[in-house]
Amino acid sequence: MEQLRAILRENHIQVTQQRLEVLRVLKELNTHLTVDNVRAALQERQICLTTATVYNILNLFEKKGLIMKLGTAGEPVIFDVNTHDHIHIYDRETRAVRDYDDYELIGLVKTYLSEHPVEGLDLERIDINFIGQDHGR
Ligand SMILES: [Zn+2]
Repeated sequence: MEQLRAILRENHIQVTQQRLEVLRVLKELNTHLTVDNVRAALQERQICLTTATVYNILNLFEKKGLIMKLGTAGEPVIFDVNTHDHIHIYDRETRAVRDYDDYELIGLVKTYLSEHPVEGLDLERIDINFIGQDHGR
C-alpha cells in the first residue's frame, strides 16, 4: 500500500482509501478496463463502491496522467493502465481491444507531426487505432 500511496502523491492526487483500492486493482489487472470491470474487481475483494465513485476516480487518474482513456467513440469508455506509447487493435465484431507495439510507426508519426504541426492544436497525445477483423489474439 505504501508504494501505491507514493504513486498517488507523485501524480499530485490526494490519498484516500478508495483511490488506493482502485489503484491497487488497476495495477493488479494491468489491462484495458471499463468502469464495470473495475467495480467488479473491487467487489471480488469485498470493496463496494458505486459506479459513479469508480468513474470519478478513474477520470481523476486520467486527468492526472496515471491512466489513459482509449480514443474510441462510443460506450463503454475504456481506460488503459499502460500509458506508454502503443497502438490499439480493435476487433470490429467483438469490440475486443489489444495492444500492438510498433515504435517505428509511432516514431514516424511523431517526427512527421513535429515537422508538420497541426495549426491551432497543442498536441498532447497521438492515438493510433487499427480496426478490423482481428484473428491475431
Ligand atoms: Zn493499451
